[in-house]
Amino acid sequence: MRHPLLEELVAKHRPDTKGGKVADYIPALSRQNPSVLGIATVTPNQELLYGGDAPVVSFTLQSISKVISLVLALMDHGEETVFSHVGMEPTGDPFNSLYKLEMMSPPKPLNPMINAGAMVVSSLVKGSGVEDRVGRLLDLVRAMADNPKIDVDEEVFRSEYETAHRNRSIAYFLKEYGQVGDVEETLQVYVRQCAIRVTCEDLARIGLCLAQYGRSVTGEQIIPQPIARLVKTFMVTCGMYNASGEFAIRVGIPAKSGVSGGILASVPGKMGIGVYGPALDEKGNSRAGVRLLQSLSRAWQLSIF
Ligand code: GLN
Repeated sequence: MRHPLLEELVAKHRPDTKGGKVADYIPALSRQNPSVLGIATVTPNQELLYGGDAPVVSFTLQSISKVISLVLALMDHGEETVFSHVGMEPTGDPFNSLYKLEMMSPPKPLNPMINAGAMVVSSLVKGSGVEDRVGRLLDLVRAMADNPKIDVDEEVFRSEYETAHRNRSIAYFLKEYGQVGDVEETLQVYVRQCAIRVTCEDLARIGLCLAQYGRSVTGEQIIPQPIARLVKTFMVTCGMYNASGEFAIRVGIPAKSGVSGGILASVPGKMGIGVYGPALDEKGNSRAGVRLLQSLSRAWQLSIF
């Protein structure tokens, strides 16, 4: 159902898309329409509300998928093993930075929300080969969103895979220290998880699953509670890249963004939110999407702090 306040806030913030830029280092993403803006929210009683373009647009998860792979790696191996490979601290650097890796010996990516950390986490996801591991990631996304139709956009995958020079260099660097398995296999899993196509509604339901400590909209406990809590904490400290501090102050909701312009947000106990606005700010977050969430958080008093 379209909701008057969500419509009003999208109208208010659509002009903010103008100051942003669509990601262009992945050719397929450069074709997104920069003036699009949409939001969906869903509550534990399954009330689904829309604003703006939400009902008619879809987009790829990109970095939002780092939340999903972290959940699965934790379910596969437990905290101790996962955090022996990747840290728990925000970096203050861009998501694709190599800089701090070189300062550590052996290199241990500072957290699972930067590309280096996410590739280490992806290579921890169990399975026999790329297809099986991506299949397990897809199954988890589908279960969290309660949508069996969610799939990988192979065109976006190919577009990024062929141009993933920086991620390839990060993977090679990590490989030297045995932090990832086969470089191409690691990239194939990581870039495919980034290319999973969703809607704002899907993101809202994924956010609700985390908000309900791992229980999906169907009431099924899909993720163990402590893991749902842990990933929401990462969303607060590292979810919006090196803008996470400001986002926590201005919005105050656990959230994870992607360079496609999607934002997954999860208000513990209350609501899941999915936002899409592909025009990005200089840190790589949806420019209008962040502002829209700030207005919504104020209007509905959603800050967790
Ligand atoms: N696939 C993208 C990359 O690795 C994801 C980055 C992002 O969304 N910030 O560059």
